[in-house]
Amino acid sequence: MIDFGYSLTSSSRISLDNINQKKLKKITAVEPDFLKCMACGSCAASCSAGNFTKVNLRMVILLLNRGMEKEAIALIEGCMLCGKCTLVCPRGINTRNLIINILKIYKEV
Ligand code: SF4
Ligand code: SF4
Repeated sequence: MIDFGYSLTSSSRISLDNINQKKLKKITAVEPDFLKCMACGSCAASCSAGNFTKVNLRMVILLLNRGMEKEAIALIEGCMLCGKCTLVCPRGINTRNLIINILKIYKEV
C-alpha cells in the first residue's frame, strides 16, 4: 500500500444492534430518570473519586446507550456511592441510586 504519510483513524461507528434492550428496559424501569441525562458532565466534574479512579457517570450513561456495557462498568466500579453527584445534577437525577442499579443490572450473570 502507498504510504501517504498519514493514516485513517479507527472507526468510531456505533452499532445499535449491540445494545442489550432487556437490560436497558430494566434500568429505565427502576430508574426512569436514566433517560433524562443531558450529558452535561456536572456529575463527572464533581465526582469525589474522579481524581484517583476512572469513575465517570456521564460517560457510563453514554456508553450504555451505545451498548458498550463492559467499558461502562469499568468506569463505574470505583464509585464510592458518596452521592455528591446527586447534589449537582441539573436534571435532578438520583444518580447514586442510578449507579447502584446499573451495577446490579449490568453485573448480573
Ligand atoms: S456517588 Fe460515585 S459517581 Fe457520584 S460523586 Fe460519589 S463517587 Fe462519584
Ligand atoms: S449531572 Fe446529571 S444530567 Fe449531567 S451528565 Fe451527570 S447524570 Fe447526566
